[in-house]
Amino acid sequence: MQTPWYTNAVFYALDVDRFVDSNGDGIGDFPGATSKLEYLADLGVTCLWLLPIHPAPNRDNGYDIKNYYDVDPRLGTLDDFIHFLHRAGEYGIRVIMDLVVNHTSDEHPWFQAARRDPGSLYRDFYTWSDAPPPTPLDKGNIFPDQETSVWTYDEIAGAYYYHRFYHFQPELNFHNPIVRDEVKKVLDFWLSFGIAGFRIDAASHVIESIGEEGYSHDERHDILKEIRAHVSGRKENAVLIGEADVEPEKMVAYFGDGDELNMLFNFALNNHVYLAMARQDARPVIEILRQLPAIPNNTQWANFLRNLDELDLEQLSDEEREEVLEAFAPDENMRIYGRGIRRRLAPMLGNDLKRIRLAFSLLFALPGAPVIVYGDEIGMGDDLSLEERRAVRTVMQWSKERNAGFSTAPANRLLLPVISEGDFAYRNVNVAAQQEKRDSLWHFIRKLIYLRRDCPEIGTGNWHIMDVGLNEVLALRCQWKAGIVLTLHNFSAKPRAVDLDMHDQRGRRMQNLFDGHAEQIGQQGNYHVDLEPYECRWYRVTGERAVESRGEVA
Ligand code: MG
Repeated sequence: MQTPWYTNAVFYALDVDRFVDSNGDGIGDFPGATSKLEYLADLGVTCLWLLPIHPAPNRDNGYDIKNYYDVDPRLGTLDDFIHFLHRAGEYGIRVIMDLVVNHTSDEHPWFQAARRDPGSLYRDFYTWSDAPPPTPLDKGNIFPDQETSVWTYDEIAGAYYYHRFYHFQPELNFHNPIVRDEVKKVLDFWLSFGIAGFRIDAASHVIESIGEEGYSHDERHDILKEIRAHVSGRKENAVLIGEADVEPEKMVAYFGDGDELNMLFNFALNNHVYLAMARQDARPVIEILRQLPAIPNNTQWANFLRNLDELDLEQLSDEEREEVLEAFAPDENMRIYGRGIRRRLAPMLGNDLKRIRLAFSLLFALPGAPVIVYGDEIGMGDDLSLEERRAVRTVMQWSKERNAGFSTAPANRLLLPVISEGDFAYRNVNVAAQQEKRDSLWHFIRKLIYLRRDCPEIGTGNWHIMDVGLNEVLALRCQWKAGIVLTLHNFSAKPRAVDLDMHDQRGRRMQNLFDGHAEQIGQQGNYHVDLEPYECRWYRVTGERAVESRGEVA
């Protein structure tokens, strides 16, 4: 079987309204994003993940959709979107988009019809209850410090409706086949333009429902199988990436037998990367890698360091979570929802370039395909004066020009203020400045992207954790066909010396993929590497294997 394209893709999450503003209204738009496709192609990313682009009241960053069949007019027209998609294709860049169907906005016509008429077809698109609701009010509440209940009373309907997210996001009922048919129409609409797939928002909640107790595991997962079969039927190589922040042993169910989600965000691995960085100890990563279930051949993990939500640490124990919070979010204002961190990566790591490089190198080296977020490539900061998760969603910093080159609008008309003070101010941190400096983070990330594209061993092959006798160092050996790639990561603030056992590769050379320098593997099959504090190294094994010495055959 051919390796699916997404197995070795490099994903870049792009929030159109925060990327580039072409018309000076203070809001990023599709013509703006189109003008930066050349930049993205040069950076090397191969698939863009568009955050929600649909018309929405925008009370939750566009995750409150009121029309699935159009583009938010602030971002441009449907035509602007199609032009963007086609131009991206010319650069060889695929585009996937958020599919937010766990819930709609309460302004969506389905909900408006549902609340007004108990006899309406749309009533059963949602879950209703006459008082009192059938479950405890706070059970399953996603935003415990924002909402007090998962049931909200609607005066017009004269009943309570169910919502695990905000009260303005009533939950769609996927156990209603008419809802599933409507979602398939939405999928068809966007696939028809050439979308390469979807990131299914809140996938684990889509298949749950308030009647979860009444539905079996198979009945719930059949929902995803049905969506997948539909999408694959329309476009064979389309990808469905799911967000399911569940325990490692439950994650694998979302791949089904290779007939549900193609990719799953690896929250467990993500959480343990932060624990490892907090402890300066590679073992949390090693342990979680060993716990990861085997996954079907046509599926892949989506690895990430940060996304544009909070850094949700629910896959750690209470003690472990506290360690990470103390290390990376010492102030209460940096924490959110009692479970996570609302900071970007660079500030969490004290803007220490060595540690930031280590984190990104690890992201690209771990089994799976990497996902980065706009602004990661320059180590953008956050604005903790903004509420909730908006702190990490400030606008892209292109240059030291006015409004960071994001927009020509007066500063007070920008969607969000530009970060203009401190270490992460746009005058210090921007694309133009980092492109000029050869040793900048931007050049390092670009290098990593092209390296990862040249190392399918990581995404496609088998991997093995090498025993180097040091708790602080992760040594991964990935192999696919004849190719062998080794990556080393020193989590420690101290230098570490490692001896790699390469006896099965005697006579061959270790080529350092950062500087191209190659060295022979020793006659005894050992290879010695001195690692600086927080250093990462990538090697490829090259050249011919030594001819084994032979004795006389009797
Ligand atoms: Mg605009």
